Amino acid sequence: MQEIFLSMIVAGMGLLCASLPSIRSILRTLGSGRLRARWEWLRRLIAAFLVGYAAFGIAHIGMQTSAADLIVAAILLSGGAFVLIVARLSEMTTNDIVRIASLERDVMRDPMTGVYNRRYLDSRLDEEISRARRSHSPLSALMVDLDHFKHINDTYGHPVGDEVIRHVSALIMSQVRVSDIMVRYGGEEFLVIATDSALEEVSALGDRLLVQLRSHGVALANGQSLPVTASIGAALLEDAETQGVFLHRADEALYEAKRTGRNRMCIASPMAEVSAS
Ligand code: GH3
Ligand code: MG
Ligand code: MG
Repeated sequence: MQEIFLSMIVAGMGLLCASLPSIRSILRTLGSGRLRARWEWLRRLIAAFLVGYAAFGIAHIGMQTSAADLIVAAILLSGGAFVLIVARLSEMTTNDIVRIASLERDVMRDPMTGVYNRRYLDSRLDEEISRARRSHSPLSALMVDLDHFKHINDTYGHPVGDEVIRHVSALIMSQVRVSDIMVRYGGEEFLVIATDSALEEVSALGDRLLVQLRSHGVALANGQSLPVTASIGAALLEDAETQGVFLHRADEALYEAKRTGRNRMCIASPMAEVSAS
């Protein structure tokens, strides 16, 4: 009887120990924060259970094993199995959530530059427009397109063109605020949605980008510096306009910058003026 009793206690401890790698894996995934602290507590609780199981087993060594002791040992064994199953399922669930989140991230990002893509913009811009209207705060757009980019591709090759796109993308990212949304809008075209920003702020950002490009160009991996310029269109969200009209006005301003010589920024006229002209 005692052998069965002790085997059940030892097996219960084995099951508790077997749950620890799953909990370690969940802790690794969680990084830091309150949820991680709770899982740490659970791990300590399992360690405390292990000590309890061991103490209970040792206390019964050499003693008469009753039917009640066997029932308690069976409950402890089932408890160990329960903890192991919950830990394994939690680990599988956590891994699945991480996988889904990473897929979602990939779907929303441009693989070449790592910035958001148009799919993300579509899902986010309406939200930002509603937020700006609710809080009566300004929302601005900056459309940036590299000048004569085809020429860069034709002269230096596509891989150098890619390098230039990545460089400009990183430059824009370094200049925008965390609350701004930056999107690769097309091949060599980027869009910044500047939240809580009026035209003065967004055009200051545009000016900074123009100056940085003009003065430094793009430093290539081979040490060569390539002169690169961009044209920029800026627009401020109007009271009743849709997302489409808002972006169209920014695009029109960009093409105005292209038409009037490139390497410059144009500000979109308000909607009323566009329709009146
Ligand atoms: P503009 O000054 O009027 O903007 O002239 P542009 O030559 O920059 O404009 P256009 O739209 O005619 O050409 C854009 C080029 O960008 C054409 C396309 O082959 C190239 N392109 C688009 N995506 C990529 C990419 O991911 N990598 C590279 N290297 N080139 C790209
Ligand atoms: Mg271009
Ligand atoms: Mg373009």
